[in-house]
Amino acid sequence: MVRTGTGMRQHLKVEGEARTGDDESLRRRLVHLVGNNILDSPSPPLYIRSMRKTIAAPTTLAQAIKYFADKDVAQDFLVSLRWPEGIYCPRCACTEHSYLKTRRLWKCKGCEKQFSVKLGTIFEDSPIGLDKWLPAIWLIVNAKNGISSYELHRSLGVTQKTAWFMLHRIRLAMQTKTFTKFKGEVEIDETYIGGKARFFSPEKKDRILRGRRSGVIGKVAVTGVLSRDARKGNSTVQMAVLGGSTLSREKAKAFLGQTVEQGSTLYSDEHSAYRTMKETYVHKVIDHSVSYCRGKVHTNGLENFWSLLKRGIRGTYVAVEPFHMFRYLDEQVFRFNNRKTKDVARFISTVGQILGKRLTYANLIGKGMEPATT
Ligand SMILES: [Zn+2]
Repeated sequence: MVRTGTGMRQHLKVEGEARTGDDESLRRRLVHLVGNNILDSPSPPLYIRSMRKTIAAPTTLAQAIKYFADKDVAQDFLVSLRWPEGIYCPRCACTEHSYLKTRRLWKCKGCEKQFSVKLGTIFEDSPIGLDKWLPAIWLIVNAKNGISSYELHRSLGVTQKTAWFMLHRIRLAMQTKTFTKFKGEVEIDETYIGGKARFFSPEKKDRILRGRRSGVIGKVAVTGVLSRDARKGNSTVQMAVLGGSTLSREKAKAFLGQTVEQGSTLYSDEHSAYRTMKETYVHKVIDHSVSYCRGKVHTNGLENFWSLLKRGIRGTYVAVEPFHMFRYLDEQVFRFNNRKTKDVARFISTVGQILGKRLTYANLIGKGMEPATT
């Protein structure tokens, strides 16, 4: 699955950074967007302990905007997360360098090339400053139903197209990279999203139709597994767009092979694609024409995820084109699987993944450390 586009980079180069308004007008736009409560929250900044030093991190959106508005502070924040043991060249790993303050670049004494903190991250080649990128990440990872490129465009004062590309890059960072197979009690279910051709322009409809053999325009089958957790509300999901408007037995089997350990208990509806699962799993089927729940035999966990997913798509995005569905799914899966953590934890875990390295909240927050009061 190709998840990055070269067109994205080119576009951002052309687009440039549209700077409008100062901190206060940005704040006012954000108040309009997320309401006053979050922005007026007086909670103090949180301190993150990395390998060498302590980094201050904001705990609210308002703090994030204010804090990262200073480009040097934003850069220091990213430097601390990226190079906790000290700055080194991303090309040759040399630790000797000089700093060009005006351009915020380091010159490596090994390979003699310049590098920025953005090099090798999803920010690479983007003319958008970290003062916009970091609040954008905060917004998207913490907006329950997602955030549209129009909202981001108005909030940050970048063009809508730039905002759209920013959102996609951030979604890339929200992808789950490390993944262990589910075991124990697992639900599997599929849903169909789209089919609302009226949202598409004639050109788009054409494009979609050309890529399809039959079926409803734009309809996509999304298949998911949910791992139940003994502790209520701690279930996690994995999703895939398995293509087309129907789910085949082969695709369902391959998806399960990647996501669920053999011997697990699998709960599903009576869909024919799951019929051969008894060979590999303890398979229990709920016949939805009879009832939706028979003791533990149900797929209600996934039904809950589908309703969140569809609410987000209808409310925020209006319609998601089928070929972008997996990106939107990544975003919803990330928020769902991290729904019990704090805003700042979701933010840091996403920024950690931007750096091509997974940093967990637990690794970053020193045990027993209380948020600072100043
Ligand atoms: Zn170098």
